[in-house]
Amino acid sequence: MPFPLHLFNPQNFPKLTARRVTLVRFVRAVTDVFSQSDAADPDDRGFNLDGAVVNAHGPVFGLCGPDGTNPAQQTRIRVMRDRLEPTVQLFPEIADTGLVSLVSPATGAPLGPDDIVTVRAARAPGADTSTVLKLHAGSATGPVVGECALRVHPLLTIPIKGHLITINGTAPSSDTQTFQDCIREANKIMVPVGVKFDLQLPVLEESIVGLRKANTLTLTNTNHWDEELAKIMRQFAQPGVLNAYIVGHIDDTDGNGNVTVDGVLGVGISSDFARSNPANGNYVGAQVGFIMHDPNGALEEFSSTLAHEVGHVLRLEHYNNRNGTGPGGVQRNNWAGRNLMFNGARLRGGPPRDQVGYGVFTPPSNPGVQAGFFLGIKTLARLQQSNQAQVLRTAINDGTYLPI
Ligand SMILES: [Zn+2]
Repeated sequence: MPFPLHLFNPQNFPKLTARRVTLVRFVRAVTDVFSQSDAADPDDRGFNLDGAVVNAHGPVFGLCGPDGTNPAQQTRIRVMRDRLEPTVQLFPEIADTGLVSLVSPATGAPLGPDDIVTVRAARAPGADTSTVLKLHAGSATGPVVGECALRVHPLLTIPIKGHLITINGTAPSSDTQTFQDCIREANKIMVPVGVKFDLQLPVLEESIVGLRKANTLTLTNTNHWDEELAKIMRQFAQPGVLNAYIVGHIDDTDGNGNVTVDGVLGVGISSDFARSNPANGNYVGAQVGFIMHDPNGALEEFSSTLAHEVGHVLRLEHYNNRNGTGPGGVQRNNWAGRNLMFNGARLRGGPPRDQVGYGVFTPPSNPGVQAGFFLGIKTLARLQQSNQAQVLRTAINDGTYLPI
């Protein structure tokens, strides 16, 4: 049955202000809950046109260019027909095929029954560069009924050195495979913004004594950069790489001495932060790196934690730089909740939950929790660090992941 056309006519809705009618939308082409490197998560925040991203009326999909060793990223984009019948043929067209090529459907052909467009970066530009994907209705030269931007990020690779830290004689349960698994999965989150983690073998097995509790890093007063953490990061940092540590447990203690075992999943420290927290008395001084506790099989949760903590190492704050719990604290909306840099890197009770488009995700350590993996690409003036891709890519070029 055709869509009733009177719904397109604003004059039929005198109490409404001018509005936008979308015939089609572009969404993440997931077939699973976790990030998939070939199903980029679009930045679909707002309707503002962004001159830096070719002024497309629609979301922006990030793509990763090749670097000579790694092939260019291929990604699927799903078209949602809001107000178009399935029988209407839609013909995708990419403005700059020298930048992004159409993998399927073939050039000049309509979308198949799955309504998926597959694209691939055709080259690595010198800097982040965008083009437009348009959908024509009826024929390859028919009217444009929807468009989105495709942004190609040249690939930046971060070398990671893994450390397994034995504390007071007890080793964590993780091993080299744990690092390999978490980094492989975290790369699926990072590839749309052109970032790849490269684990440098061997993973080092190291030992420290004199901490409060065996097999445990204890954080005090939620000062995540404090004494025991600094000792580990100072003692074992290798030059020229991002140092990544796994310990058995991370205990968090509040000002009243209450301990939450594994209350913190991980901590990430940038060179900016380390420089502003130098040695002082017994405090050995902050050092760059990230640390997390044993995943114990919760691969998605800790891959997401790894990517989130590296985000901090690369200057990313929590979404819109919101922290704390009171009014004006954590920003709670669908975009914030979907974001990799949402506080805690995942969603606990309350909205948004399965509305965020990731399905139901229940990591073993905290059933009911849901994660988000989206990283911002659009520049929206009233959001701090709106273009997270640009922030972290600048930080990589500035070397904020390198030990000081
Ligand atoms: Zn965080």
